[in-house]
Amino acid sequence: MLMSGADFRDSLRRYDPTVFVDGRRVESIADDPQLAPGIAAIGVTYDFARRSEYQAVMTGTQHTSGKLVNRMLHINRSTQDLLNKLEAVRLVCRESGCAQRYLTHDAFNALFQATSRIDEDKGTDYHQRFVNYMHQVQADDLTCGVAMTDAKGDRSKRPHAQPNPDVYVRIKERRKDGIVINGTKAIVTAAPYVHELLVMPSRNMTEADADYAVCCAVPLDAPGVTIVARPAGRPGESAAKFSARYGQSTGVVMFEDVFVPWDRVFLAGEWEHSQFLTTTYATHHRHSCIGARAGFGDLLIGAGVLMCEANGLEPGATPHLRDRLVELIKIVEGFFACGVAASTYGQGDPSGAFQPEPVFSNVGKLLLSTQIYDMHRIGHEVSGGLIVALPGPDEDHNPETSGRLADMLTARPDVPYAQRMEVARLMEDLTASGEAGWYSLISLHGGGSPEAMKREIYRNYPIQERVAMVEKLLDRGVLAGEDGKPARNRQPGRCCVEGCSPPAVPEPVRELPPAQAKPDAAE
Ligand SMILES: Cc1cc2nc3c(=O)[nH]c(=O)nc-3n(C[C@H](O)[C@H](O)[C@H](O)COP(=O)(O)OP(=O)(O)OC[C@H]3O[C@@H](n4cnc5c(N)ncnc54)[C@H](O)[C@@H]3O)c2cc1C
Repeated sequence: MLMSGADFRDSLRRYDPTVFVDGRRVESIADDPQLAPGIAAIGVTYDFARRSEYQAVMTGTQHTSGKLVNRMLHINRSTQDLLNKLEAVRLVCRESGCAQRYLTHDAFNALFQATSRIDEDKGTDYHQRFVNYMHQVQADDLTCGVAMTDAKGDRSKRPHAQPNPDVYVRIKERRKDGIVINGTKAIVTAAPYVHELLVMPSRNMTEADADYAVCCAVPLDAPGVTIVARPAGRPGESAAKFSARYGQSTGVVMFEDVFVPWDRVFLAGEWEHSQFLTTTYATHHRHSCIGARAGFGDLLIGAGVLMCEANGLEPGATPHLRDRLVELIKIVEGFFACGVAASTYGQGDPSGAFQPEPVFSNVGKLLLSTQIYDMHRIGHEVSGGLIVALPGPDEDHNPETSGRLADMLTARPDVPYAQRMEVARLMEDLTASGEAGWYSLISLHGGGSPEAMKREIYRNYPIQERVAMVEKLLDRGVLAGEDGKPARNRQPGRCCVEGCSPPAVPEPVRELPPAQAKPDAAE
């Protein structure tokens, strides 16, 4: 069953979670105006999967069941799947800014791979449990939020060494029928309006952290779950051209004695496997982030051109504006190309799933994580200051000012004032509002801080192969001197034709007269 966006919203009515937004208890997550833009953005992933022109990228056949499922829930089986997913994420994010649901895909693929690996090592049955759970989610076409980033407390201490044991989510009790978890996940996108939360470990663990190596699926309204969230986007703000319609909420999720039956538990104490699960998720997620931010880039490029035109300038005929727009295109397509490379060099896993090549995946995410600020800057540069100086939309209806404003703020006769204002407000929304800050931060820290990507790049890059290659070049004399002889000879004492002579013994230092030895006070 492939739900529509409207079905998705309706399906949330079955849930009665404990959600607070801005200090207020939310009565119905499906109907709360503060959450509506977030639900609408996820809704795009549902609607697009039902459109025939998007079927190839927005859906896939799940190999374990033979059923057609939404791409956001699909396990990759080939490099083409990886490419389709990348394109699908770009497609839904250029419509919605950020459609959020790709996190479910990233977690599902990491879990498919990790559970298989844990079973292989420990003789457990996590993989089949996970596959059963995944089939159910696919059949009901659900959305899962990813609750990975713990509150973490003191960053210098491991989970078990924290003064407050609940700043990381942990197994508090093991029962015959399941586990009881406690703790806090601090940043969870879409937390208040998903069907399920996938609790995942956020780091590598040591043996002492074994209780913190936990992964499980929890329904949003499970007893003991409390979500404290921000509004999704800028609901109700008339100047928010885009993010009043599409936005994203993030929530703090507190788990207090939450019972999880075994069939929903996919890691419970196997601390050695925590790192694999976390980094595999990160590789999938950073690949998805590339598609997501490329979609955001598409919005900026279009808005940038329209803004230039509304200002009376043709970007193609104005060298410095064309230059800035090409810079923006270079940034967006540059990191997107890393996503394409990560897809085409994607790797099969012993579980049968395919994952993006990790170096390209991390390099692409690292590029966008800092270049998002350049993307915003270029938007500001080509637009001018009007995007933050423009009087608010209420002024558009003020009989004392609106006529004069329209006369004075029209730039070219064929672009009406109202249209110029619309584009300016869109550009403000995307690059200079609170929501724009959200796009910066999700780019910089979402999926791990830049440092986490750098560590993964260094860990996965074939550095030793590069070293061996240069050593071979040296040995073969490829880097020979002008006389054609090798620039390096490994045989001791044979660095040149004559051989080395020992360095001369230095002359004993003559003692200087006191007046010369003392440094000048002026020095
Ligand atoms: C908008 C947004 C949406 C997000 N959505 C989700 C989501 O859906 N699910 C989810 O699980 N997470 C989500 N995240 C969380 C994201 O993964 C984290 O922000 C990221 O991993 C960084 O963690 P942090 O924010 O706790 O920062 P910190 O870990 O506090 O990092 C701050 C700085 O300190 C450095 N640092 C941290 N610890 C150490 C250390 N021990 N030694 C040296 N330096 C250190 C970091 O490198 C960084 O520069 C989201 C984040 C954002 C901003």
